[in-house]
Amino acid sequence: MSSTTDLTEAAPWFAAFARPGLARAKPYDATHHDFAWQHRELHRMMSNECPLPPPPVVVAAVMDALRDGNLYPNTAWELRDALAERNGVPADSIMLGNGSTEVIDVVVRALIEDGDEAVIQVPTYAYFETQVRLQGGTPVLVPLRPDHAFDVDGLLASINDRTKLLMLCSPNNPTGNSIGRDDLVRLLASGLPVVVDQAYVECGYAEAFAPLVERHPNLMVAHTMSKAYGLAALRVGYLVADPRFVDLLLRVRIPFSIGLLSARGCLAAVRDPDMLEERRTYISTERERLLEMLRAIPALTPYASQGNFILIDVSRTGRTSTEIAEFCRREGLVLLRAVTAHGLGDGHIRVTVGRRDENDLFLALLRRALDERSSPVPAAAGA
Ligand code: PMP
Repeated sequence: MSSTTDLTEAAPWFAAFARPGLARAKPYDATHHDFAWQHRELHRMMSNECPLPPPPVVVAAVMDALRDGNLYPNTAWELRDALAERNGVPADSIMLGNGSTEVIDVVVRALIEDGDEAVIQVPTYAYFETQVRLQGGTPVLVPLRPDHAFDVDGLLASINDRTKLLMLCSPNNPTGNSIGRDDLVRLLASGLPVVVDQAYVECGYAEAFAPLVERHPNLMVAHTMSKAYGLAALRVGYLVADPRFVDLLLRVRIPFSIGLLSARGCLAAVRDPDMLEERRTYISTERERLLEMLRAIPALTPYASQGNFILIDVSRTGRTSTEIAEFCRREGLVLLRAVTAHGLGDGHIRVTVGRRDENDLFLALLRRALDERSSPVPAAAGA
């Protein structure tokens, strides 16, 4: 179901009772997910999901949990303890959430109110900006450098006495690159709360920053079970932060935000010694193979990535990202994301690393999309 952006015109009576700014906020549009569910024949290479289904041990744990479905769940302490152990931090440094979406929402709601600013490195996950606005805050958007490097000087220069939060994503969606530890430490020296969304860190070999929390109490690191673990439907994410921060944030989070089925399924996944490494290896191997093949196509500029996706600059192909995405859907049932985020223009697509056969299908489609364009255009060489 979709709704209008500006409720002040569509439903002034309702808007009159809402918090300032809320009636004008843009609602999150999830219809692309519904579309993909209604067409199971489509290859979902648009939402950075894991292409591998959960292993039997996870399925069995979820089914078994269903037997206790009449009871309220517990706090999922076993999952919290298992994640603490995996990250080498104390259990009271972990806050679980309904996906990292809830984790980020809780951080923003706890820290931002009317008149506050949050400094955000962009382009990145659009939810950061949306949530800051919904809380009445002002997102201060600092662009990545042209080579996608994090602009630490630019971020530090944007801090003022209204700044309450710095928001980063590493590996960054959609560019795929990560911030270096020294740069992050420079940002932490500002003394401000810094949240680093590491949703994709287990998809490759970028540095995980959770171990830095002990020395830097202003650091918060968000993780998810949705990407490399491949459990997006279970909706579980978690934050690693100083226990005093966690104590504060838990006052904001709704109780029972994680269902028993999700907690037990994720626990089985975290306890499986091989599951994550198998997925990390599969995704990384396919990502590098896909990247190499994309590099061989002259008009494309694919960017190296440490996530489960690749950003491709298609601006020299003579086709827009929307045209290419549409071609791949029509001709090969492949769903892609045309990225038109801050500063990237209409010249980029983001493809999720899929199964090997899906990646091959995508490459074949892309070559066709570009060939069909170039053949009828004579003497365009050198342009
Ligand atoms: N962070 C980033 C950077 C994402 O790209 C996404 C989803 N695509 C999320 C967080 C949300 O993940 P989830 O709520 O499933 O944990």
